[in-house]
Amino acid sequence: MEPPTANTGAPSESLPQAVHARLAEDVLADLKTSPSGLSVDEAARRLEKYGLNQLPAVAGRHPLLRFFAHFHNALIYFLLAAAVAASLLGHFVDASVIVAVVLVNAVVGFVQEGKAEKALNAIGNLIAPHAHLIREGKHVEVPVDEIVLGDIVSLEAGDRVPADLRLIRASSLQIEEAILTGESVVAEKRVTPAPKEAALGDCHSMAYSGTLVATGQATGVVVATGSDTEIGRISTLLRDVQPLTTPLLLQINRFGTQFTWVTLAVTVVLFAFAVLVRGHVWSEALLAVVALAVAAIPEGLPAVITITLAIGVQRMARRNAAIRQLPAVETLGATSVICSDKTGTLTRNEMTVRRLEACSGRIMVSGAGYVPEGRLTAETVGNVEDTRPADIDSLILAGLLCNDAQLNHTAGEWHVIGDPMEGALVVLAMQAGLEPESTRHEWPRLDEIPFDAKHRFMVTLNGHASEGTRIFVKGAPDELLQRCSLQETDEGSVPLEMDAWTARIAEAAAQGERVLGLATKRVSSGTNKLTFTDLDDELIFVGLIGFIDPPREEAMAAIKECHSAGIKVKMITGDHATTAAAIARQLGLDDDPHVLTGRELDDIADSDLPGIVSETSVFARTNPEHKLRIVRALQSTGAIVAMTGDGVNDAPSLKQANVGVGMGHKGTDAAKEASQMVLLDDNFASIVAAVNEGRVVYDNIRKVTAWTLPTNGGQVLAVIAAILFNFAMPMSAVQILWINLITAVTLGLSLAFEKAEPNVMQRRPRPPGQGLLTPFLVWRIVFVSFLFLIAALGMFFYSLGRGDELPLSRTLVVNTIVVLQVFYLFNVRYLHMTSFNWRGVLGTPAVLIAVTLVFIAQLAFTYLPIMHHLFDTRPLGITDGMLIITIGVAMMIVLEVEKVVLRLGNTPTNNNV
Ligand code: ADP
Ligand code: MG
Repeated sequence: MEPPTANTGAPSESLPQAVHARLAEDVLADLKTSPSGLSVDEAARRLEKYGLNQLPAVAGRHPLLRFFAHFHNALIYFLLAAAVAASLLGHFVDASVIVAVVLVNAVVGFVQEGKAEKALNAIGNLIAPHAHLIREGKHVEVPVDEIVLGDIVSLEAGDRVPADLRLIRASSLQIEEAILTGESVVAEKRVTPAPKEAALGDCHSMAYSGTLVATGQATGVVVATGSDTEIGRISTLLRDVQPLTTPLLLQINRFGTQFTWVTLAVTVVLFAFAVLVRGHVWSEALLAVVALAVAAIPEGLPAVITITLAIGVQRMARRNAAIRQLPAVETLGATSVICSDKTGTLTRNEMTVRRLEACSGRIMVSGAGYVPEGRLTAETVGNVEDTRPADIDSLILAGLLCNDAQLNHTAGEWHVIGDPMEGALVVLAMQAGLEPESTRHEWPRLDEIPFDAKHRFMVTLNGHASEGTRIFVKGAPDELLQRCSLQETDEGSVPLEMDAWTARIAEAAAQGERVLGLATKRVSSGTNKLTFTDLDDELIFVGLIGFIDPPREEAMAAIKECHSAGIKVKMITGDHATTAAAIARQLGLDDDPHVLTGRELDDIADSDLPGIVSETSVFARTNPEHKLRIVRALQSTGAIVAMTGDGVNDAPSLKQANVGVGMGHKGTDAAKEASQMVLLDDNFASIVAAVNEGRVVYDNIRKVTAWTLPTNGGQVLAVIAAILFNFAMPMSAVQILWINLITAVTLGLSLAFEKAEPNVMQRRPRPPGQGLLTPFLVWRIVFVSFLFLIAALGMFFYSLGRGDELPLSRTLVVNTIVVLQVFYLFNVRYLHMTSFNWRGVLGTPAVLIAVTLVFIAQLAFTYLPIMHHLFDTRPLGITDGMLIITIGVAMMIVLEVEKVVLRLGNTPTNNNV
């Protein structure tokens, strides 16, 4: 079979015209489909025929353009000018070496940037969207690409509409269509045909691909896919291209540009000094200052930093955290507070019904997972399967009908499509002997009010041939009790005993159970619309259902890690305060949690909030607006906040957080799109893993910087000294270029691959305002620059002093600097601890490869005749080689002593150097 290609062709012959103005049934008939969907075979056939539901890819920048972009920077212009100057002076070898270096630099940058871009795109694919379809009467999840004409799609709040749909069922559906119409007010949708001449924004019977469901639920039939959709017709496509940059990288680039100009100014002054004061020939002076400029500029640094970021992104993806926006990589490393959902993130979201509470008494349920086996046991009577009280039956029935989940048995395993808690209610019904499909068939749903985290309940209206029409409500029991005035008993309904229920809720919640309440009400038959006012009177409370949802083991370990890493963890849940507190205790989040509820939050003034919120670890019965207030309050204390979210209403707080964290599985499209990072496994531990990697990335960037700059510093000092004190240049310009380039793409790059230092999660978070160059790093750079200077000049004068010719002395100096860089690399790998350990000495594969490459390169540089010609080098004797190595070892020892001395002056908590 040929792989299907993107659907870019003309609309097919079977596509009905003006579907928005026609009856839904007619559209279904035209497309040869029905509300129970296409068969799997037919869908495959149509996919083959019409192609993938994809918009044509936006063409990226042409590779040639990308390549030439690497020449567009002040530094390169400067080097090219130097090459021109050199060739004007007749130094053709130097000129071509400079050009070669520029080319190599551009090629390395181009290749690495391409790799980084690819890595980011691959991560985009990890979170490719899925849609909920009905095929062969069953709910299935299918990649959006594979949707075909005639497919039946279910939509709910937070979904991105995956194709153009003619609605066939809609309840309280509102869609945000700004992407198509520019209209920011949500559009109300319904099933009735729209006028034939209606504009796009008025086609209330349609849901268009790419628009966002704000509220409600719906089902629609696919009438256009791929580029036949309305969005596909807009030729200017809206795919946002990820810029390969972060605030840190911008800062470094800006620094680089400023640095170039400063260098230029200094060069001009020194040139004047050399010619006017020292009386040098101008051409010689020019060569000297070109060497200076070349020495000063860290050519390889920006490329190596980009690669470090890209490697971080890949490592995070391997640990189930997909980065959507590159700056998050940096921010994660500075995260000081993580605000997490409870259900599914800290807990497993594998719900099992544990208890049923009705007026007649309590029933405990055994069994685990979604296997519909296990028993219902009354607290006192034992097995109750035959003598189950009627109110318990009502409870189970309400739980099955006010429910959108489906339990599937495939390949010997039971799994849930939909909400796991609702899935557990289906399991319960089966344990009680009900047949979910046929029961739901006997009680067809006439209307519904979907669950919303704001009001925390859902309502359905179901009609039965003999039992009449009833409303079923399921939701947070404390909220339901407020709305009920009656309770159900075997003898009919009696006035509600609020206190007794509250006590029973508290008892279950104290065990960490998630507690749901159910209520019902008869309405006159013939009713087929639901509104909130229907819930106002005579609602009858049926009972409670308690679920267990075990904490995730990994989350417990991750919370411990956070505590040692100085990161605060806060649980923000819509669940009951007592349940939340019990789970927090089980997780080790807080032994004696102080729980703040959404209502209590409402009574706290904004000015008092930061202090209170910082001290609270559990927030319960919150809604998305509370989340927003909590993030803001935390941020006002200077915290860097990572916040999870899954619902459509979580988008504002996800955007407000420093790192918005979306959920790959249970999250809505709206929440994922508002996030900077998406968890592929919805697991709290993955956030902490990402923070860990974020810290490593930041450490590595600091290491690369701390390693690169002293080399430049040492070279600059040497050249300036030569000009000021009027001695021969210890290295020529091309030799300096050689050092910078050969070591940056080997030794420098190897630092991008460094693993975490062992204490990475035992440090406090980096202060958010801290620049890359901390006082410690500045000191280190200056100190090492001088060590380089002393070693280079010492070698130079020693060699000249014993009567060597200048080219030989210079060869010695170049080799000395490269060897110092190798030794310094081993020192820099551990900024926070001694490098004299096995791991430090053995190095990583990257380090070993880099050192080997440098070694080979230096052998070539020193002994190959062609190099003698190009770089004016001379072969060295073995004793000189030994001497150079000795100098390297000596510097290593000096630097380790420096580390010890500095550490003595540091308290253990203040190790954030
Ligand atoms: P969480 O932070 O645990 O994810 P939610 O906001 O999802 O909290 O849910 C809050 C409360 O709303 C739950 O404790 C439960 O009582 C109720 N609830 C959650 N999901 C549903 C649902 N599908 N139907 C009815 N009620 C629900
Ligand atoms: Mg939830």
